[in-house]
Amino acid sequence: MTTQQFDIEKRIQNDRLDLLYRRSKSAILALFIVCTVYLLLLSGRYAWQFLLAWYAVLIAVLLGRWLLVRNYLRAKIEVGSLSSWMKKFRLGIFAAGLTVGSLSFLFFPRESLSYQLLAIIFPIGITAGTVTMLPDFFSFFIYITTLMMPVVLQTAMVGDRLHSGISILAFILILFFLKFSKEFNDNFTSSMRLRYENKFLVEDLGREKNKLNNRLGRILNDSSNEIFVADADTLICLQVNMGAVENLGYLQSEFNEINLLDIFTDLDQHSFTKLLEPLYNGNQETVTYKGINRRKNGTTYPMEARFQLSTKDVPPIIVATVQDITERSEWEEKLIYQANFDQLTGLFNRHYMQAYMDSALTRARRQHLKVVLLFIDLDNFKNINDTLGHDIGDEVLRQTANRIRTLLRESDTPARTGGDEFTVLLEGLEEIAHSEVVARKLVDIFKKPFTVNKREVYTSVSIGISLYPDDSESLDQLMQYADMAMYQAKEDGRNNYRFFSSDMCRSSEEQMLVTNHLRYALAKNEFSLSFQPKIDIVKGRIIGAEALLRWHNPELGDVPPDRFIYLAENMGFIESIGTWVLEEACREAMRWQEFSSEKLQVSVNISPQQFRAGSLLSAVDSALNLSCLPSEQLELEITESLLLQDSDRPFNILRTLHDQGVSLALDDFGTGYSSLSYLKRFPLQVLKIDRSFVRDLQENENSRALVEAIIAMGHSLKLKIVAEGVENEAQLNFLRHRDVKIIQGFLFSPPVPAEKFHALLQTAIPFK
Ligand code: C2E
Ligand code: MG
Ligand code: MG
Repeated sequence: MTTQQFDIEKRIQNDRLDLLYRRSKSAILALFIVCTVYLLLLSGRYAWQFLLAWYAVLIAVLLGRWLLVRNYLRAKIEVGSLSSWMKKFRLGIFAAGLTVGSLSFLFFPRESLSYQLLAIIFPIGITAGTVTMLPDFFSFFIYITTLMMPVVLQTAMVGDRLHSGISILAFILILFFLKFSKEFNDNFTSSMRLRYENKFLVEDLGREKNKLNNRLGRILNDSSNEIFVADADTLICLQVNMGAVENLGYLQSEFNEINLLDIFTDLDQHSFTKLLEPLYNGNQETVTYKGINRRKNGTTYPMEARFQLSTKDVPPIIVATVQDITERSEWEEKLIYQANFDQLTGLFNRHYMQAYMDSALTRARRQHLKVVLLFIDLDNFKNINDTLGHDIGDEVLRQTANRIRTLLRESDTPARTGGDEFTVLLEGLEEIAHSEVVARKLVDIFKKPFTVNKREVYTSVSIGISLYPDDSESLDQLMQYADMAMYQAKEDGRNNYRFFSSDMCRSSEEQMLVTNHLRYALAKNEFSLSFQPKIDIVKGRIIGAEALLRWHNPELGDVPPDRFIYLAENMGFIESIGTWVLEEACREAMRWQEFSSEKLQVSVNISPQQFRAGSLLSAVDSALNLSCLPSEQLELEITESLLLQDSDRPFNILRTLHDQGVSLALDDFGTGYSSLSYLKRFPLQVLKIDRSFVRDLQENENSRALVEAIIAMGHSLKLKIVAEGVENEAQLNFLRHRDVKIIQGFLFSPPVPAEKFHALLQTAIPFK
């Protein structure tokens, strides 16, 4: 039994006892009156001494019970004493029942039948009158048996049929009374139990509710949110939580004079009423509002408030829950900044620019104005990054942004839209010519070097320009056009600007066409190799040839390598094409043995992409193995850009190739970042002077000086020098006098197909 059940049982017992005792006074009084009247009725027939004695016993019993009741009512009843009070009550009942019941012995069996019936009805009447005892079955049982059993026995003992019948009826009546009492007792007990269970339940619920309310109160009070309860009519604060006290700086007591509008500074009576309108007309339960609140010391803070109205309270109240969103606003601002601005330069980023350009075009369309889009790309920025490091690269970008910013007008919008790519939008232009002025100025400001970490860094920019609405009305197309124009500017030598023209579109379409065919060129066997002899002008004989890739496509015709090699590099085809070239070149070189007794060397051009792909070493190996060409008879021509890479990978590959005996030549020397340091570092054997210098030898003094310097440098590093693009005797003589021994060029032969080269091998060299 749980403590609560135990408690309930005790309470029921207590209530039962209470009922029994409290009703006892009237029951005692009634019994006294009924017995007195009954005795008076009997007084004519019995000896008065005998009746008086019985009456005295009865009075004593009743008095005893009376005193017991009085004691009970006066006493402070404790739980532990309940059963002893019950015992005392039952004892009183027992005494009273026995006293009254014994009366039947006084006149049985001698009396007339009417007296006998009276003697039977008398205890029955008293029994019926004692329903006050029904709540306790046992008490009732004692009473009824002591009262009625004597008369039932007496009647039965008479022996005749009538008395036996009366006795049986009376006995049945006893059973009926007992059954009735039992049911009443059970009903009483269960209804009391239910009552107490409900009571406890209600108490439990109340307690839980209180606990919850207290907790809620505490939480609300401690909440960092500010909570204001204000009179809805006067807007004076009735109650505020600690959050409000702490954030606003008023004392708790001061709030009783503060109007909500003193706090919600950007609301006045009119706007506040309007704000709360949905609450008053019942359309909404809450309204939210974002604004600025003022503290006692006058400082303000951004906040978000939620208002509720309770018209059930008197007076009606407004509850305002306010959240200080200073931190959130700062975060939001930061996020907005991050989403729209470039962290490095502080210019708008691509994301913002895209949206901005969209709206700028809409404006321009409405006002019939022009918009100019400039794409600015730093030339050689990758080299700055690779050679000077990313920190300097970043600083160059920052300074680039500053230069662009200071040059522009207020209405122009610059953005950094990629690594080294900037975009400028010029709006509200009436004259397109103005954009050219801006572009020229932009190119010019980059002529001055940047100073980064006390060192001078040179760079230039290439700018592509597209115009709205002249070139296109679509933003995507304008961007694409500006991009194409920028690439054109780069192709035309960098450090300049180009306006978009429809020719560029054509060339880009053409590029797409070439790319599509290039994809299948190898599989369709459209490639071949041409060979350009390399001549030893001292000995007067061919010492080898450079293998040059040729592509004939049925639709495009002959496509020169300058037009497709960079596409193959960009599309990732160069690895497989390069492998094919290597195998083909080595196989062909083996065939030369049939036409010459010399150990001829074949030179193969290798793209930097082939080094990156990682399969170069195995491709060289398999080409040599398949053809059985000795490795000394293979030369690989690499370009300077490969040597500029940050990683050690190209170096390691070159070293392995060198160790295998493969010769390494640096192609197109002088066009890139010719630097002595990597000439020394890498295991090179040959330096090929670019044909552009050879071409300009006669006209350009600078070229002459440069070629002389390259030759001197090559000799001092013990490198073989090969001069490319030798077309005439003058060039030949110049080179010969500078001790250049090997030449390559149209003077002797352009690149030719294999068969023709075989023929050349058998021809005498026309110059020596
Ligand atoms: P490169 O390696 O510098 O090749 C020499 C280029 O100069 C060849 O152009 C050749 O035809 C040209 N040339 C030779 N002598 C003269 C001359 O006296 N005058 C003039 N004006 N030009 C001369 P080509 O065959 O058009 O090749 C162009 C470039 O394409 C090559 O320059 C090379 O960088 C690249 N290339 C060619 N074949 C391959 C290849 O199989 N793989 C790779 N990765 N690149 C290749
Ligand atoms: Mg070459
Ligand atoms: Mg070359």
